[in-house]
Parts: sequence; structure tokens; C-alpha cells
Amino acid sequence: MGTNKNYSNKKPNNKSQHFQNKKKGSLISNVNNHKMNKQDIKNKLNDGVLVYSGPLTVTELSEKLGVSAVDIVRSLFLEKIMVNVNTTLNDDYIELVALKFGYEVQKEKIVALENFEEMEINDDPTMLVERPPVVTIMGHVDHGKTTLLDAIRKSRVVAGEFGGITQHIGAYQTTVKGNKITFIDTPGHEAFTEMRARGAKITDIVIIVVAADDGVKPQTIEAVNHAKAAHVPIIVAVNKMDKPAANYDRVVQQMSDLGLMPEEWGGSTIYRKISAKVGTGLDELLETILLVAEMENLKANPNRYALGTIVEAKLDKQRGPIATFLVQNGTLRIGDCVVAGTCFGKVRQLRDDFGRQLSEAGPSSPIEVSGLQDVPTAGDKFMAFENEKMAREIAAKRKEAKILSERKVTSANTLESFIATSGEHQEINVIIRADVQGSAEAVKNALEKLKVEDVSVNVIASYAGAITESDVLLAKTSNAIIYGFNVRPDSIVRRKALEEGVDIRLHNIIYNLLEEMTAAMKGMLKPIYKEVVTGQAEVRQTFKVGKVGVIAGCYVTLGVIKSNATVRLIRAGIVVYEGKLSSLKRFKDDVKEVKEGFECGMMIDGYNDIKELDIIEGYEMQEVERK
Ligand code: GDP
Repeated sequence: MGTNKNYSNKKPNNKSQHFQNKKKGSLISNVNNHKMNKQDIKNKLNDGVLVYSGPLTVTELSEKLGVSAVDIVRSLFLEKIMVNVNTTLNDDYIELVALKFGYEVQKEKIVALENFEEMEINDDPTMLVERPPVVTIMGHVDHGKTTLLDAIRKSRVVAGEFGGITQHIGAYQTTVKGNKITFIDTPGHEAFTEMRARGAKITDIVIIVVAADDGVKPQTIEAVNHAKAAHVPIIVAVNKMDKPAANYDRVVQQMSDLGLMPEEWGGSTIYRKISAKVGTGLDELLETILLVAEMENLKANPNRYALGTIVEAKLDKQRGPIATFLVQNGTLRIGDCVVAGTCFGKVRQLRDDFGRQLSEAGPSSPIEVSGLQDVPTAGDKFMAFENEKMAREIAAKRKEAKILSERKVTSANTLESFIATSGEHQEINVIIRADVQGSAEAVKNALEKLKVEDVSVNVIASYAGAITESDVLLAKTSNAIIYGFNVRPDSIVRRKALEEGVDIRLHNIIYNLLEEMTAAMKGMLKPIYKEVVTGQAEVRQTFKVGKVGVIAGCYVTLGVIKSNATVRLIRAGIVVYEGKLSSLKRFKDDVKEVKEGFECGMMIDGYNDIKELDIIEGYEMQEVERK
């Protein structure tokens, strides 16, 4: 595949699409690596910036700058740098020359096509059209997020948009005065943040729902923080206004304390009074969303191959892998070849949340897609490609890269398990496969929360879909166990696992899975020992015996002193020595133990500084059973 900054991903009639480099933000024209013509040069240099992507020869630089190669050679010569027209210049020299001719430089990072999420697409402004806003609803539990989402969803049925039963695909669209709004159907900031953590920015506007009778609560504050962190405009929907205890002013006051000052107080946050249950204020809220969207100037180019984010994905027993795509730019069509995360697919069916089959889906459309070969992960980016071979290759490369990066993590884990043998932290590596992404996440979260002393679970991958041979390989290389939740491996995968010595464990009840894991974690631990003092003796007299050392004549005041015990010598309450006994005698005989109330002679191995009235305490380490 190689690198290709000029990959246009364009539809036949679209002459001017560009990939933009994220770092520098400059426009790369869509020329196919041929030399630029004069107009290109002029365009490039209009703003006094030379844009280039790699080493240039003097001749190439001269073409880019529109100056003669000889002038460049001469200017470098004046700097005591000897070059000829064919010399390749490094970045420093290119910058030096450019500056001499009055230009700044900007170096493009060439982004490989397989890293398509890193590419910032910069469409020709004339190709852009308005796109619907994508809205996420957040707020404290029980404040009415789900009721609001349902009310909006239902209102369009009432409005006669479509009289059918809707199905949950993770997002839906509604139409207000001819304008569409897309709602992400998973309320709450966890999903929002999870997506963001995976680099997916899909939300244009956040609605924070606050119950008027309850006011700001911890999750309201979290939601505000998450929305602020994402730099997304916030609309506050003060819900449950139908309730007698509703106190709008208190909510406004509390939200203002969080920095969301209303317009009437000189701030910029829009507040709307609603009752999701009764249905009041919803139209105003929807219109407000459109208003905010207009200010945001949300645009996309429907005339390009689609790209966007996976909102949800699962393995459907009849239809195979199914994923909800949020098209963020371009148009997705049946028959398009896509790469979603690391999965290749050829779009077989497109369905909206009414279950209607569509032939294409434009910007901001949530659409259920079938035809993928595997189940991607929510938050993965997708992109459509004009050619199947290319898409397959890109998917394969991405898969390879993912496995490699997981292996890297693995080697670190191996290191940790190495540390573990020296008694520190141990981790059990786990790969999770489940029937739906939600279960995979649930199993992952539950396993990661398990902690038995110094052993924890490290989930290196968790996804929806059947267990594959590549999972087995990943498990093998990362010394991991595979957990299948509501999925079963086929015979090929089972054989592979046997060959590779990989443990596959299948469960359909999460509790059993956790119990099994907890038992395994306990089993991995080295036994814990507890110190148990067996007895104490008081030194009554000491005898120095030639080269042998000092014998302490003692009286056992408590319990029993054993000959193999570890002892500590305590003087005036301070431990002055710890060691083993080298001899324990009653009269002249060696004995195994001496009980309370008896006299004995003791010698401490390697220690002779024993004094009268010292206490010798004997103790042993006993294994403690784990709970
Ligand atoms: P979520 O946890 O934020 O999704 O909250 P829900 O939408 O599940 O709502 C929690 C409870 O509040 C449910 O019993 C709803 O019927 C109720 N509720 C939601 N909106 C309103 C409203 O506007 N007025 C009243 N009176 N109750 C509401």
C-alpha cells in the first residue's frame, strides 16, 4: 500500500478533495505525484509558505519555489554549502533556502492510507453542504434521559414520519421543520467518554438533562465536565417541569455554579424547560438544537466515499456481523467496500432504525450495515474505498498492526509476570469474545474490577464475535486465556487452541465466569504466612563457652520455645537481633522444645551479645488460608 498523501478517495465527478495533514493543517492539492504546474506553485506560495513532504533535490526545490536552481546553488554556496542541482537537500537546507527566498516552510507528514483515522479530510469548500447535528443526551440517573430520547423518537411517529415499530440500532434521526437531527441512543457519559477515549468524536451538541425537582447531582457534574472536556456546545434541558416540586431557578443557579451561565444572566448557555413525560417543551428543545447547530456551521461533503464511526456492533445469528455506522462525511452506498476498524466488508444492506432498507446514507446518518466479515468495535472508525482489493489490503494491514501492537503490550505483560515471580504484582491476561459488544464490555469491566491481593486481570482485547484463530494466536503470544461469553469456537479454532496450548473457557453466566477467575487468581498466589509467636523466655544467666559462644540460661515464661524456631532477642522492649537458634538444651541434652515454666540453655546462631534479662521470643510463620 505504501504512503499516499494524495489519495483522493473521490467519486468520479469530484475534482477537488484533499487530505489535510493534522499537524500542520495545510492543504495538500490532489495531484497525483506529478510535478506541479505554475498555478500550483502560485497557490502553494501565495501565503508565503512552502509545503513539502520529503527530501527535495535542488532542482525540485527550485520548481517549488519558482526560482532558478542556479540561484539556489549560489545562495547555499554563500553559506559555504557546496551543492549541485542534483543534490538532495535535507529539511534544514530546504528551510534555509526557503527562508532566503522569503518563504516559511511547512513539512507534511505523509499519512499511510491504512491509518485513515489520522487523516483529516479537507474537502473543497464548494462541495460542502449542511449536515444534521449529532446529539448526545447526558445527565444524572433517573433525570429522564431515556424518557426524553423515547419521547423524541415517538414524536416523529406521531408526526407521521413513519408508522412502524422502531428498532434499536444505537442512534436515530428525527426531522424538525424539514431539518434532521441525529440522536445517539445511548444516554450517559460513559458511552460518550468511551468513544472519546477511542478517539471518536461524533457528538456535535450535548444536552444535559437535569430533573427540576432534584437539581444538580454527581452525574450531572460529571456530564458537564465530560462535555466541557470535549469542547462541545451544551444545552441544558430542565426536565420534569410538570412536577409540583420543580424548581427551575435552583437548577439554573446550580448549573451556573458549574460555569453554565444562562443567556439572561449574561452567559451563553441555553436552558429549556421540558417535561419528557408529558411532552411539553420538546419542540422548543428541538428547535434550539437546530439553532445551535446552525451556529456551529456543521458541514460535510456528500459527494465522497463515506467515513465515520461505528456506534454499535454485534453478531447476529441470522445476518452475521451487523454494525451501526454513523456516517460523518460522504455517502455510504450498497456495494461499497469498507474497512471498519480492522474488518473488511462489502455493504450488503443498509437499514435505518425503522428497519427500512435504504440504498444510501449521507452525512450524519446512523445506519445499520450488514456485509462485514467480522464484528468491529464501537468507536472504531470506518472508511469506504473505491476498490475492493485496496480495502481488503488495508483491513489486513490494520489487523496486522493491531496484533503487533497488542503483542507489544504483551511483552510488557510478560515482563510484569516476570516481576511477579519475584513476589510483586501478577496479572492474568485475558481475551474476551462475546455475542454482543455490550456483553464484551460488561465482562471486561467485571474482570478488571476483580482483585485478589496482588493478582489482577489484564484484558488485552474484548470484542463481539466468534472466537477466531487469530484470537488463539494472540492468546498464545500474549500468554492469555480466552473467555467466550455466549459464543462457542468451531472445531478449527478448538483444534488450533489444542495445538497451541491455549485455554479457551466458555461461559454464559457472568457470575460463574467471575467465580472461576477468582479461584484461578487465588491459586496463582503464593501462600501467605502469618507470624505466630510460640513462646518467650527470659535470660537469667549467660555463660561464655570458649570458642563455641555464649549460652543463655533461660526460663520459659510463656508458651513454648522450639529448637527450629526463629527467635528475636528483645532488650528493654527493643528488638536487637533476629535469627535462628543453634542449640536448645535441657541440662546436657538437645531437645526439640521447652515448655513454659522450665529452664533451658539456648544459643543463638551467630550472635553472642546476650545479656541477663533479655527476652528471647520464639516465633514461626504459619500459612494462612485465603478468603
Ligand atoms: P434516565 O435514568 O435519566 O434515563 O431516566 P428515565 O428516563 O428512565 O426516567 C426516570 C424516571 O423519571 C421514570 O420513572 C420516568 O417516567 C420519570 N420521568 C422522566 N421524565 C419525566 C418528566 O418529565 N416528568 C415526570 N413527572 N417524570 C418523568
